[in-house]
Amino acid sequence: MLHIGCHLSAAKGFFAMGKTALSIGADTFQFFTRNPRGSRAKALDPTDAQKLNELASEHSFAVLLAHAPYTINPCSANADTRAFALETMQDDLARLEATPNNLYNFHPGSHVGQGVETGIQQIAETLNHILQPAQTTTVLLETMAGKGSEVGSQFEELREILDRVSLEAHMGICLDTCHVFDAGYDIVNDLDGVLTAFDRVIGLNRLKAIHINDSIFGLSSHKDRHAKIGEGKIGLDAFTRIINHPALRHLPFYLETPNELPGYRAEIALLRSLYREI
Ligand code: FE
Ligand code: FE
Ligand code: ZN
Repeated sequence: MLHIGCHLSAAKGFFAMGKTALSIGADTFQFFTRNPRGSRAKALDPTDAQKLNELASEHSFAVLLAHAPYTINPCSANADTRAFALETMQDDLARLEATPNNLYNFHPGSHVGQGVETGIQQIAETLNHILQPAQTTTVLLETMAGKGSEVGSQFEELREILDRVSLEAHMGICLDTCHVFDAGYDIVNDLDGVLTAFDRVIGLNRLKAIHINDSIFGLSSHKDRHAKIGEGKIGLDAFTRIINHPALRHLPFYLETPNELPGYRAEIALLRSLYREI
């Protein structure tokens, strides 16, 4: 069975997201841990979290994907900005224990002129502060498009971060199809080659989730503009190969395409129809 969901609004709480996911044919979902632009998280409602945990287990949901706000920057040149990223992620991880055994994805950050090596060092330092041996959440680095000074558009950079993290077992990668294509990995014409490179540099055992997005712009565009599935430069044939690929087909897929719920429902149905049960 294809494990697939989409990004949902967290405004009405955990249980509401679970019900929404079911209503659109999803068996998982992604959500922001707090307002993506703001800093303050809503007070955690443990009863609501518990209701979601029960719903998810009743309906055999795949792992859920919490997404850190995209405004934090753990490799900012400004020490206060770095400290804010660390505190935000630490708080998110503490709260996520109310919905245990799921995934937490973040954008590695932008080194803003400090150089990629300094960026990598600062990201790893942040992770070494926040990861706890007993945590149940796996923290994911997202593959980035390489916009501006973003760290993490090349597999080698992600590997270097992982190499510097002491609790590497709590870490993984979320591969965003739009971003890797933007970054120059040709998943349209050479999916096998890209996955072989991923395995050699990072290890496929570290790949925990896929953001499944088409791209408005072409290979190596570094633009990060998502398109609906089949309406961008990646295209439906490539997505059919991606969801069925032996190295990927068991992973959870999360749509972050420009859609409201009816559009997401249609994309989930479309991708399910293209998935070959084996
Ligand atoms: Fe993201
Ligand atoms: Fe993404
Ligand atoms: Zn993106």
